[in-house]
Amino acid sequence: LLFSLILVLAACGNDSGGSSEGDGEEAKDGGLIGVAMPTKSSQRWVDDGNNMVEQLEALGYETDLQYAEDDVDKQIEQIENMIVKGADALVIASIDGTALTNVLEKANEQGIEVVSYDRLIMGTEHVSYYATFDNFQVGVLQASYIEEALDLPNQAGPFNIELFGGSPDDNNAYFFWDGAMSVLQPYIDEGKLVIQSGQTEFDQAATMRWDGNTAKSRMENILSSAYAGGEKVDAVLSPYDGISRGIIQALKGVGYGSGDLPLPVISGQDAELASIKSIIAGEQTQTVFKDTRDLAAVAVSMTEAILKGEESEVNDTETYDNGEKVVPTYLVEPVSVDIDNYQEVVIDSGYYSEDDLK
Ligand code: BGC
Repeated sequence: LLFSLILVLAACGNDSGGSSEGDGEEAKDGGLIGVAMPTKSSQRWVDDGNNMVEQLEALGYETDLQYAEDDVDKQIEQIENMIVKGADALVIASIDGTALTNVLEKANEQGIEVVSYDRLIMGTEHVSYYATFDNFQVGVLQASYIEEALDLPNQAGPFNIELFGGSPDDNNAYFFWDGAMSVLQPYIDEGKLVIQSGQTEFDQAATMRWDGNTAKSRMENILSSAYAGGEKVDAVLSPYDGISRGIIQALKGVGYGSGDLPLPVISGQDAELASIKSIIAGEQTQTVFKDTRDLAAVAVSMTEAILKGEESEVNDTETYDNGEKVVPTYLVEPVSVDIDNYQEVVIDSGYYSEDDLK
């Protein structure tokens, strides 16, 4: 309820759309919030940043929104600048979750508290709250979709599947993987799902910095080495839309999606516009929608609680151990999306407009 209220407030606020500094007395009273985001190269983080700024400004805060284009040192420098500028609180979606220990030590020396945004910041006690989606559930949704699409409980198979993991420096990647494997592993053990590449472990399947081209190359290698004898790929577990689109390019490159060689079932995450379009075009099969408006509302509410010296609402106090502490967390629910429900989930909810899809 609290979060819906904030959403309504945000919707009523001025739609200034960018970060601002010093625009008015009211803002000055609210304080300055530094918002550090990983990269503009993926659409979701652009949405996250915009939502954060919009909602914080509607409540009278100034914001300093920065993107680091997946450069770890650049992100550290940006956070250092926020500290120097006198930020009152920091909201950080990390690139490498293990690389911020020193800079957060500096923030702590200035009495600046931190909300870990979407990705857990590791190896420091200086994280007050964690706002994220149910990351394990994301993996469960991706794998359950594959399970149903192949009708694994009822079919003898065997079906060929290839597995892709996220970035090894992002704690979320392990949760997505574990969630997915909780569904897929029994079928792999039983022999109903076969991984022709033999690349069964997260370390082999991981995709540094979630890079679509890296995934494309890996898929090309797998196709030429493990599928050269006419075997067909029936499904691909992909953790993120950018990776899914890279995989699809590799598959199309060897003839999938034309003639009598259909594309396999391919999962994804973030409901990026390019992937919703791909789903409509019958290429990518599924994605996981994470409503960044809701996540921003949670992070904003945590930030307010910190600044007011109050406790913030959380719904998980045992899952997210960053090595130094178990960080109090609020988990938002992710939603599986495919051709049958994209209209309802991402259009009717106002997340995208019909025009966005043209
Ligand atoms: C986020 C995902 C996103 C991925 C790549 C993860 O930390 O939770 O939503 O797909 O990073 O940007």
